[in-house]
Amino acid sequence: MASATDSRYGQKESSDQNFDYMFKILIIGNSSVGKTSFLFRYADDSFTPAFVSTVGIDFKVKTIYRNDKRIKLQIWDTAGQERYRTITTAYYRGAMGFILMYDITNEESFNAVQDWSTQIKTYSWDNAQVLLVGNKCDMEDERVVSSERGRQLADHLGFEFFEASAKDNINVKQTFERLVDVICEKMSESLDTADPAVTGAKHLPTPRA
Ligand code: GDP
Ligand code: MG
Repeated sequence: MASATDSRYGQKESSDQNFDYMFKILIIGNSSVGKTSFLFRYADDSFTPAFVSTVGIDFKVKTIYRNDKRIKLQIWDTAGQERYRTITTAYYRGAMGFILMYDITNEESFNAVQDWSTQIKTYSWDNAQVLLVGNKCDMEDERVVSSERGRQLADHLGFEFFEASAKDNINVKQTFERLVDVICEKMSESLDTADPAVTGAKHLPTPRA
């Protein structure tokens, strides 16, 4: 269910059945790394400097063109559950992509990346794709996690890596677009290698209505 916050766009989007694929994407990571800000920046192109209350926000929808396909993204925010480090397993269901976020000015949020990655691997679909994002790269003076450490961790976990800023709108769109491309690549790989009858039933996202 869409919340009141996205009703402005929700009505138009929910009546729009004209898409080729729909991907459920989750943004996870420690509290206050900037997940909600990142989602607002991408979906509404806005940034609210004060703390953004996450309560009541379920997801936002954005439709993009990629690889000649109309792709509807359903992007979920954790609604504050991340404070307890465990997110209900239902939240992970059906997710095809994850943005795993830490804050480059917060060591603890970086240290938590491994735990979040384990949660993703435990609760999500095997083929779910993950991008590691070091947010708040506009705060260079307060940086405690070097780009190099971020990149090394991403390599270790097998994820692609971006540094980004929801505030200054750096690499936000690029992050989502790369994630979508990686999901599409993975999808065509499984189509190439698997029995199409099985693949069609189990792995394809919602087809065009
Ligand atoms: P969440 O708990 O992960 O959803 O984090 P929020 O989106 O609520 O952001 C937490 C705080 O960090 C807020 O005060 C935001 O304004 C701030 N913030 C978020 N993204 C950025 C960023 O890219 N740069 C800077 N400087 N601050 C940010
Ligand atoms: Mg939030």
